[in-house]
Amino acid sequence: MNYQELAEVLFPDVSGTPADLEQRFPERQLAEHAVVTRIGPSPTGFVHLGNLYNAVIGERLAHQSEGVFYLRIEDTDEKRKVEGAVETLISAMNYFGVHFDEGATADGDSGSYGPYRQRQRKEIYHIIAKYLTQQGKTYPCFLTAEEIDAIREEQKAKQENPGIYGTYAEKNRSLSLAQIQENIKAGKSWVLRFRAEDTEESILVNDAVRGELKMPRNNMDFVLLKSDGIPTYHFAHVVDDHFMRSTHVIRGEEWISSLPMHVELFNTLGWNQPVYCHTATLMKIEDGKKRKLSKRKDPELALAYYQQEGICPEAVWEFLLTLLNSNFEEWRLANPDSDYHDFQYTIEKMSISGALVDLDKLRDVSKEVLSRMTAEKLYQGLSAWCQEYQTDFAALLSKYQDRAIKALNVGRGGAKVRKDLENWKQSCQFLSFYFDESFKQQDAMPEEISESDRKEFFKAYLESYQHSDDSSAWFAKVKDITEKLGYAVKPKDFKKHPEDYKGSIIHITNMIRIALTGRANAPDIWEVSQVLGEEIVLNRLKKWL
Ligand code: GLU
Repeated sequence: MNYQELAEVLFPDVSGTPADLEQRFPERQLAEHAVVTRIGPSPTGFVHLGNLYNAVIGERLAHQSEGVFYLRIEDTDEKRKVEGAVETLISAMNYFGVHFDEGATADGDSGSYGPYRQRQRKEIYHIIAKYLTQQGKTYPCFLTAEEIDAIREEQKAKQENPGIYGTYAEKNRSLSLAQIQENIKAGKSWVLRFRAEDTEESILVNDAVRGELKMPRNNMDFVLLKSDGIPTYHFAHVVDDHFMRSTHVIRGEEWISSLPMHVELFNTLGWNQPVYCHTATLMKIEDGKKRKLSKRKDPELALAYYQQEGICPEAVWEFLLTLLNSNFEEWRLANPDSDYHDFQYTIEKMSISGALVDLDKLRDVSKEVLSRMTAEKLYQGLSAWCQEYQTDFAALLSKYQDRAIKALNVGRGGAKVRKDLENWKQSCQFLSFYFDESFKQQDAMPEEISESDRKEFFKAYLESYQHSDDSSAWFAKVKDITEKLGYAVKPKDFKKHPEDYKGSIIHITNMIRIALTGRANAPDIWEVSQVLGEEIVLNRLKKWL
């Protein structure tokens, strides 16, 4: 077979060469250890936590080393493509604060190693496909779907490995140029297959996360170009990561089994292999057993879940960092005031057993993250989220901006910061009592206090109430009325001699708290009163006279 002629028959319109591409996409001029990496999501409309998980690793490795992090859209699978999916993906990454230096953007591409959408790179793949054909490394395969099914059945029956290789590949491998031309002329559809060696050798791949992987060398005539000329994942991955000059490939462990094909292609083309990092599958514990997160059963696999629940991006990042690097939590304790970007992420500390997505753990991390934010920052994050997901509350936040910021600041001054806030959704609930429009009488008054005592207490409380009193002056008055009403001022006195009192100051303060906030569980009464302002305080108390 004259492979030059075959290449002309298969790719008559392709005139570029690998050397042209080498020149068009030169080696990047970066520091010696700079990491260049990417995420390569498929635009299926479903953006999952795994996309962000891998993005966090890539982003950190690239930006910690003054490298480049880019977004490549892997849209070769027409069947899975969904309208608007690229926009959804970009906006999700944007929401979670993933910063790309180059790649696909909402309005086109940015960067000089593009196009960054695989469907737009057909010309590049065809140059390499033609080159491989000239080298005798490929052949057109005219097997029909029915023939492939029959082969699969035969292999099943004989308990052989599935795929096109050895004798199963023979028929198409040995077609003459004339036969190929005839088939093409007759309009038969073909795919371009890699001409593999019949080998039983092994290969070693050094995975940065998993260490050395020993695998059988590829002996499959796998598909490089599908019948529409679009590459398979395998071919596109090798071509793209070479010409986009990726130093690292971070992807899910489900790709490990196809590594031999990728290694074979890199070797055949004489290109350097990137460092592979195959990341652990996301798991959860259910009924005491670990299992893979499932798109159908587990809403938390979708990135949209975290947006809808209002879990702030920083919390999701810190949660993923705790999953990814076993020393992150320790670092966080030692550096409570640092930005998580200051943490030195390392591949070596990654775990290879499944990453456990534990929503209780996420809640704890999120509480910590929110407790470290200033009231202004909380206000901004909450308002932005509400504008999208709770517009009524967004309107209140904007109408009462000052009050909202003061409310968010309650319990933040001292050494022990309150951890009332879990996420934006729950924050709306939590803050709702600060505004008359969203106030609800949630809890009943303490049973220990009779109606007449309650009225008497509030009468005296209102008579003595001075909004400008400081916290201790305010509390002195509360104690005074408490005592006069026959309630114990010291809770422990009540505990020791309950028969001597009608109740304790705890019942009294609960009552004030419930009157002011509608709930038994709320922050410090004096602080809350200061935030509410005199008018609202008086109105809410008068209702109980
Ligand atoms: N398109 C592949 C996926 O969605 C990306 C794998 C890779 O990063 O190479 O799984």
